[in-house]
Amino acid sequence: MRKVGEECGVFGIWGAKGDAARQAYYALFALQHRGQESCGIAVYDGEKSEIRCEKDLGLIPEVFTPERLQKLGNASAAAGHVRYSTAGSGSVENAQPLVVRHRQCSMALAHNGNISNAEALRRRFEESGAIFHGNSDTEVISYAVIQARRDAETLEHAVEMAMPQLEGAYSLVILTPEKLIAARDPHGFRPLCMGKTADGAVVFASESCALDSIGAEFVRDIRPGEIVVASDEGVYSLETHCGGKGHLCVFEFVYFARPDSTIEGASVHEARQRAGAYLALEHPIQADVVVGVPDSGIDAALGYARQSGIPYGVGFIKNRYIGRSFIQPTQIQRKDAVHIKLSVIQPVVDGKRVIIIDDSIVRGTTSARIVRLLREAGAKEVHLLVSSPPFKHPCYFGTDIKSREHLIACRLSSEEEIAKEIGVDSLGYLSVDSITKIAKNARCGFCTGCFTGKYPVNIEGEACLEEGATA
Ligand code: SF4
Repeated sequence: MRKVGEECGVFGIWGAKGDAARQAYYALFALQHRGQESCGIAVYDGEKSEIRCEKDLGLIPEVFTPERLQKLGNASAAAGHVRYSTAGSGSVENAQPLVVRHRQCSMALAHNGNISNAEALRRRFEESGAIFHGNSDTEVISYAVIQARRDAETLEHAVEMAMPQLEGAYSLVILTPEKLIAARDPHGFRPLCMGKTADGAVVFASESCALDSIGAEFVRDIRPGEIVVASDEGVYSLETHCGGKGHLCVFEFVYFARPDSTIEGASVHEARQRAGAYLALEHPIQADVVVGVPDSGIDAALGYARQSGIPYGVGFIKNRYIGRSFIQPTQIQRKDAVHIKLSVIQPVVDGKRVIIIDDSIVRGTTSARIVRLLREAGAKEVHLLVSSPPFKHPCYFGTDIKSREHLIACRLSSEEEIAKEIGVDSLGYLSVDSITKIAKNARCGFCTGCFTGKYPVNIEGEACLEEGATA
C-alpha cells in the first residue's frame, strides 16, 4: 500500500542505434514505482539541432501512446523521467525532463531528489534577474548550471562548479546534443547506476531494474559526488566532489526501490528479508501465521517467518489495476476504499493469531483499515510489526514525509497509544541500529534522518550529523 510518496526516477541513454526513445520507454516503465504523477522523454537524434521532448501528466502507458512515441523518432540519445512531486506542484509545467535552450547550451535535465536550499537559491537568482517558469527545484539546478557555464570550459565542468551551491539530494541525468551527463550529490541520497547495452550504448538509471528491463548489463553505481560523461569519445568521470562514503536514503531498501534492484552492491529483496529477520529477533511473538502487506511488507514477512519458524501465509491480494483513471472515493466512501485495493484471503487468517508486517506507519489510517480487514476476516489476534523505525521527523531529501503533525509517532507519545489507535494487540518497530544493517555489504553509509532527527546536511532548526558519521 502506498503511504509515502516516492521521489522520482531518471534514465538516460547515449549511443543507441536509433531506438533511444523506445529504450527509455521500457526503462521508465520499470521505474514507474518511483513516480506516477507525470513522465517524459527527451531525445536527440544527431541530425536535427534541437532536443525534442514529450511529457505530460499520467503514467507511462497513458502518456506514451504509440503515436506519441513515434513522434520522438529514431533517436540515438534520450533522457527520461517519472515524477512524484515532492517540491513544486504536480502540474504539467513541472513535468520533466526540463528542456533549457540557452545560447550557452541546450540541455534536457531529469532530476531525482530534493534541493533543500532551493528557496534561498531561487531568491538569490531572482534578485540577480532570473525568471523561473515553474516552481520546481529542478529549474533552480538548471539555472545554477547555466550560470556556472559562463566560466566553465564544458557543461560537465559547469555542473561541477554548480554542485557546491546545491544542498540536499540530486541524482541527475542531463542530455545535450554532444553528450549525456550523470551526476550524484556528494551524499548520494538517491541511487544512480550505469550500464551498457549489448550494442554498446551507455545507460544511466535510478535503479538496476531499469537496466534489466532493456537487457543492459549493470556496470557500476555512480559514486556519491561523481559526474560521469558519456559521449562519442567514450566515458569519463569528474571526481572533485567524491571522497565521502555517502548517506544513501536507508528507506530505499525498505520501501522505495524495487525488490529486484541492487543498490551499492546490496540486493533490495535480501535487505527486506533481513529486516524481517531482525524484527523476529527484536520482537518474538507467539502466533500461528505471518503475513505481509503488499508489496514491500511481503519480503519482510518471509524473513520473519524464516527466522522465527512461524509459517508464512499469503494474507492479502492486491488489485494491481488501479491507475490514475480510477475514480477516487469521496470522503464518505474513503474509509472503505482499502477494500477495493486490498482483499484478505480469509482461510489464511480466520481463527488465527496473526503477525502482520508492513514497511512503515505514517498517519496510521491505512494501517487501522488493514487491521480492520483482518479482524473482519476472523483473525483472533493481530500483532503489527513494522520493518522500519517510527517516523518522527520530516524528510528534506525528496519524499513527502513532510510535517511532524501528520506523523502518528509524533502525534501520540507511546507505542501503546499507537497500538490502541490502530486497533492491534501489539505493535513493534525495527530499531535504528538494525535498519542500518539490513543492506549487508552495501558500500555506503546511510541517511536515517526521518527516524533519528539527525541529518547529513545542515537544515535550519534541525540537528546535523558529524562529518563522516553514517547515521
Ligand atoms: S530523511 Fe528518511 S526518507 Fe529522507 S532521505 Fe533520509 S532516510 Fe530517506
